[in-house]
Amino acid sequence: MISVKENLYDIKRRIEKSAIKSGRNPSEITLIAVSKTKPVSMLREAYDAGQRIFGENKVQELCDKVPQMPEDTEWHLIGHLQRNKVKYIIGQNQPSLIHSVDSERLAAEIDKEAKKRGVTVDILLEVNVANEETKFGISLEQVPEMIDKIATFSSLRIRGLMTIAPYVENPEENRKIFQDLHKVFLDNRSKKAHNVCMDVLSMGMTNDFEVAVEEGATMVRVGTGIFGERDYSMKS
Ligand SMILES: *Cc1c(COP(=O)(O)O)cnc(C)c1O
Repeated sequence: MISVKENLYDIKRRIEKSAIKSGRNPSEITLIAVSKTKPVSMLREAYDAGQRIFGENKVQELCDKVPQMPEDTEWHLIGHLQRNKVKYIIGQNQPSLIHSVDSERLAAEIDKEAKKRGVTVDILLEVNVANEETKFGISLEQVPEMIDKIATFSSLRIRGLMTIAPYVENPEENRKIFQDLHKVFLDNRSKKAHNVCMDVLSMGMTNDFEVAVEEGATMVRVGTGIFGERDYSMKS
């Protein structure tokens, strides 16, 4: 039996340790509990242990879970978002942050829905730092241009950058990836557009969040480390 509460505390301790090791204040780092595929009962356990931010990667699952959790639960969408699903999560069931904006067309669609409903949407740009073919995201080189384009969408607010690093045996192998993204994050932070407010760097998962924290992450997204391995065998 895994204890969600104990896992959560353990991850928090490790975030704290990595922050201190690299001379950062642990309060600069926000933990997103990635609850995709997990039952609401487990999210409740995490909630009861003090966790308030949950990350989901599918629109349908997000919409199913939102009404089942307390009002003050905060939701982040971390998975690939299709344009035809945008309407389901703007205005209602709206995540407080969308981590996975990877094209101007998707940004335009979110902006359009946001205007219809009179809301503002906080987003991150997903960056495929290692240029992996299997992954979504823009390249590091495209970041400045994409920020300029998206800054013209007045109902979006660009809060920062996100990456999913490659799966590696040794998390040290991803250090360079995190350094590269951190550098581009810093370079673009001072952009002066009314809706660009780059204060979030979302990087690091169960396997490599400690290295990510050492390299400047302000959000880490941890699933397996809190809720245990995911079982996809039941799903179609
Ligand atoms: C599933 C997922 C995570 C969490 O992965 P773990 O290895 O279980 O911690 C983080 N970010 C994204 C975008 C994910 O899809």
